[in-house]
Amino acid sequence: MSDEVRAHTALHIIKGAIVKVLGEDANWSTSANVKDLHGRIAVEFNRKPTVEEIAEIGRQANAKVTEDAEVEIHNMSRSEAETRWGDLIYDKWPLPDHIQQVKVFHLPGWNVNCCGNKHTERTGAVGSIKITKTRYRNSKNVLEVSYDVED
Ligand SMILES: [Zn+2]
Repeated sequence: MSDEVRAHTALHIIKGAIVKVLGEDANWSTSANVKDLHGRIAVEFNRKPTVEEIAEIGRQANAKVTEDAEVEIHNMSRSEAETRWGDLIYDKWPLPDHIQQVKVFHLPGWNVNCCGNKHTERTGAVGSIKITKTRYRNSKNVLEVSYDVED
């Protein structure tokens, strides 16, 4: 399994952990980047999280890895996906109107997102996730979470 596939799958796991800990207000991703075993996700949020909350996000993400949950990938029409999950499949950046057939990453009870990238088949294949840095941008109301994936 390539490093980037693991680090990308970790992005979905961390995103789920962010929403679990900070609530639905943190549901909108504004950017996502992966390089080798490193990644960074940014979400809209209305305040700087506490140190305890960040630690809890890391703990929850690693609990999801340890659970070795199955990753579901659904190929379906966009309207079908919207009917099932609503806006939760989307990020802050728009999905162009002409795209009417989508791939949906679904980790039940955790994260659902339109995503055409490759993923590990189970969360256990990701390896442990270490949050390396967080940054809260007051001017944009954006929280950035950087992480490494380790063996
Ligand atoms: Zn993905």
